[in-house]
Amino acid sequence: MADYKKIKVPAEGTKITYENGEIVVPNDPIIPFFPGDGTGPDLWKAAQTVFDGAVAKAYGGKKKFVWMEVAAGLTALQWYDKDTVLPQETLDAFVDFKVSIKGPLTTPVGGFEFVCLTCSKEQDTREKCIQCESEWVTPRFRSVNVGIRQKLDLYACVRPIRWIEGVPCPVKHPEKLDIIIFRENTEDVYAGIEFQEGTEEQKKVYEFLTKVMGKSFRADSGIGIKPISITGTKRLIRMAIKYAIDHKKPSVTMVHKGNIQKFTEGAFRDWGYEVARDEFADVIVSEADLWEKHEGKMPEGKILLKDRIADMTFQQLLLRPEEYSVMVMPNLNGDYLSDAAVAQVGGLGVAPGANIGNEVAVFEATHGTAPKYTGQDKVNPGSLILSGVMMLEHLGWQKAADLTLKALTKTIADKTVTYDLHRQMEGATKLKCSEFGEAIVKNMDAVREVATA
Ligand code: NAP
Repeated sequence: MADYKKIKVPAEGTKITYENGEIVVPNDPIIPFFPGDGTGPDLWKAAQTVFDGAVAKAYGGKKKFVWMEVAAGLTALQWYDKDTVLPQETLDAFVDFKVSIKGPLTTPVGGFEFVCLTCSKEQDTREKCIQCESEWVTPRFRSVNVGIRQKLDLYACVRPIRWIEGVPCPVKHPEKLDIIIFRENTEDVYAGIEFQEGTEEQKKVYEFLTKVMGKSFRADSGIGIKPISITGTKRLIRMAIKYAIDHKKPSVTMVHKGNIQKFTEGAFRDWGYEVARDEFADVIVSEADLWEKHEGKMPEGKILLKDRIADMTFQQLLLRPEEYSVMVMPNLNGDYLSDAAVAQVGGLGVAPGANIGNEVAVFEATHGTAPKYTGQDKVNPGSLILSGVMMLEHLGWQKAADLTLKALTKTIADKTVTYDLHRQMEGATKLKCSEFGEAIVKNMDAVREVATA
């Protein structure tokens, strides 16, 4: 275990370990967490109340979380020094303790040299924030979230997307969409291999591509590289197929643009079929085999492996959502498709996510810091709470996961909601962020009584 300087490792509680390819979860796991920037602290307070309440009610004191606060973003600047937004200690804790949960973090978009971590205002001065007068103004940095994913090799961004009854949404049958997206998290155009137009580096790459490789394109182009590897692809598709097997899902769909980008997106699809053939032949049936070997009738207990072109998939998720279940795709497709699918079931306030590697998993709200509501105890903690539901499932604490989901659903169905849902619902009662968390805990007793009646 790392030698922690600022992080206080709790005296009670036990570490989660990793043995024979599985995490081993004690009854009192130490879970690193950070609330995040902006509205993060409000969200975390409400969410922690729900997590502790669910575990206490589900297991009657036999299990409990032991929380261990770590720092990133604004908190890291306060704990460490004015330039450290992602401390090594935090990364060490994520690795040592295996399962963590985090709130949203400020990510500056660019253009200015400094950014305020309290309100996200970008600016030319470091003295104090020109908008909110906070002293927490720091040099511009690359996304801390991306840093965490890359440094810990959390190669899968996992996002279950389904409708929660009562959540206002733009389609007639939101209940038909029930998917889980596995998005590659480390490669593709997100690998950060880019050359700015007008620079020496860009000129060298341009000369190489035009003169040595014989390609033709405009000299005044910015250039980005899109690497997609066998290693990165196969481990992701393996994870998606294993998930489908463990959760008895009917199909896995690979989403790609292989018709245009043959050696990256097309290869992603081909390597996916290879994984299925080499490692899961006993359980996976490809669409080609479905017709050639099974006359179009899916054999009992098997999982169908399909592949679909990305643009068409956007249409299909709207028109025939019930045909999709587990979906797996390269980074950019996953970025777009997951947000579009989330909008279909009511938006980011209720969309959970996780970044998962071989040993380490970090669960997170999928929205940002909503900085204009900082300190107002106002925003919807649904996304963070549902990320906690994913975490409970990952730990194997299914009873607490089910209890949380049912109580959250009841709270929304009762029309007791935060401002974002309140403004879209007729006759609803508006709750603060903390009140929404408390209402969920209260509703746990009601949903338990129904379940045991
Ligand atoms: P944002 O923080 O997600 O907020 C945009 C709008 O979405 C809010 O103004 C609010 O809409 C709504 N919203 C977001 N979270 C909500 C919640 N919990 N409950 C209710 N409504 C919510 O996006 P942003 O303003 O573009 O980004 C702010 C900062 O967060 C940026 O620095 C960005 O880089 C960062 N960010 C971080 C993460 C992450 O850490 N995972 C992800 C995305 C963005 P209304 O104003 O209409 O009520």
